[in-house]
Amino acid sequence: MAKIITVPKWCFPFGGYGLTLWKLIIIREDGDRDYLIAHEAKHVEQWTEIGFFKFPFYYILELIENGYTNNHYEIEAREAGDKAVTFTPEQMKRFREACCGDN
Ligand SMILES: [Zn+2]
Repeated sequence: MAKIITVPKWCFPFGGYGLTLWKLIIIREDGDRDYLIAHEAKHVEQWTEIGFFKFPFYYILELIENGYTNNHYEIEAREAGDKAVTFTPEQMKRFREACCGDN
């Protein structure tokens, strides 16, 4: 189960709207909340599947080889985010409960 923390824009001085650290999802308050939660929840899923130590290593390898946009972990996460913005409020509520409990 992931924990979501919402922070002000100034917490991301180098850009970006969200960040995942293992099972901690940090998102900007001014972003598209549903999109960001689904995007970052995909990274939690990837990190859990691949492993605590291996995921950051593989993610960085992907960044070096393919850059950010074509990083396949990011492609999967963008797809998850794009799908979430089509959810009904009830579907999004169930998604959030499954990934992140009641936070
Ligand atoms: Zn991402």
